[in-house]
Amino acid sequence: MIEGGCLCGSVRYKSEAKPLVMRACWCRLCQFIAAGSATINLAFPSDTFTTTGDLRDYPSTADSGHKMHRRFCPTCGVHMYSEAEERPHLIIVRAGTLDKPEIVDLDAHIWTKEAPAWAHLDPDICQFEGQPPPAA
Ligand SMILES: [Zn+2]
Ligand SMILES: [Zn+2]
Repeated sequence: MIEGGCLCGSVRYKSEAKPLVMRACWCRLCQFIAAGSATINLAFPSDTFTTTGDLRDYPSTADSGHKMHRRFCPTCGVHMYSEAEERPHLIIVRAGTLDKPEIVDLDAHIWTKEAPAWAHLDPDICQFEGQPPPAA
């Protein structure tokens, strides 16, 4: 079981499944969400993922062309996870919300062409200039 929640504690989630993939996303939109850096994301299968508490949604079309729903806590403003209409079987969770963020072991950096020049991209980790192949 992997669990997490927002800063104020009003939103909680848990996943019975392990993450399918863990990626750092450097797309421009993620830089807004992550205060300037990449978002660190874990893809979970949506069928064993559950949430309690109210979330707001910021809908937008991503650089990948996917129609995204980015869900955040309306009280503390923390971004929790995103979902793509094209991939309803996946929930993309922001690693900062994990109860144990040390479980993260990155598989890839994605959208590296949008990363700022000062970004540190670990050369030992797989890198994609844009959208990578689907997580599942
Ligand atoms: Zn909150
Ligand atoms: Zn991104």
